[in-house]
Amino acid sequence: MQHKKIINLYPNNNHKSLSISLQVQDKFETRGFQVSYENNPNADLNICIGGDGAFLRAVHKSDFSNIPFVGINTGHLGFYQEILIPNIENFIDEYLKSNYEIETLDLLEARVHFSDDSEALIFNALNEFVVKSSDSSIIHLDVLIDNNHLETFAGDALLISTPSGSTAYNFSAGGSILYRSLKGYQLTPLAPINSKAYRSLLNSIVIPSMSTLRVKVRNEDSDSNSTLIIDGMSNEYDNLNYIDFKTSTKSISKLTFYKDWYWLNIKDKFL
Ligand code: NAD
Repeated sequence: MQHKKIINLYPNNNHKSLSISLQVQDKFETRGFQVSYENNPNADLNICIGGDGAFLRAVHKSDFSNIPFVGINTGHLGFYQEILIPNIENFIDEYLKSNYEIETLDLLEARVHFSDDSEALIFNALNEFVVKSSDSSIIHLDVLIDNNHLETFAGDALLISTPSGSTAYNFSAGGSILYRSLKGYQLTPLAPINSKAYRSLLNSIVIPSMSTLRVKVRNEDSDSNSTLIIDGMSNEYDNLNYIDFKTSTKSISKLTFYKDWYWLNIKDKFL
């Protein structure tokens, strides 16, 4: 007997997303698919329903699944959520005809090292990592690229973003937009202090994907805890030593149906 094709659905936890997800479930089941609300590893497609945050949470919940993702937007246009509610029927038709492109989205990896030499923790991010002090005091960080000391940063935070994440927090912080397929990642300062005592870059810097960025907590900060924010989710540490960032060996893929959608979205959202 031939097995049914499987779709994983990841709705946001609000009324509208749940109601749209029931409609999507019905449309796929009518076409002979099986629908799962868990992370079924045998699925053909992951569908995220909600805003960009729903996409981010689904990617994390699936542990950066290699099953392609697509997003249905229940609000305004989204950077990850390409399908609008009136276009759902059309999206399913085009999906069944394989009328789409597959985009690879690079991830960033952070390897977190502690001062007590306990085992390093490894995280991936689709948008960005942010390193800040937990009590909102100034954080002092040594910044090294491939072991070359670049600067001693003092300010609110350092933000390290992927090309896909460059239109999110990074953009609000004055960083540049990097097209999703560009290789590399961006280091953007948040409120850097520039005075006689501190000199650090005021603009963002794009780092090649094969390079490692090290961000090391300086002794000035030994009294306050440090926070690493991963795609909007905070982790607090009392003994953070340094974090190594690089382009992850993992990536995710996303279906794209409208070729010009990225640029339309930039114009619609920002201009
Ligand atoms: P949220 O619901 O507060 O959403 C934040 C906003 O970021 C939404 O408008 C969303 O559409 C937008 N966004 C998310 N990813 C994007 C992307 N790749 N390109 C363009 N816009 C994008 O928070 P959430 O849903 O938990 O999302 C977490 C994200 O929020 C973080 O990854 C971070 O990028 C973003 N954020 C932005 C700011 C800021 O702009 N000042 C501050 C904190 C967090």
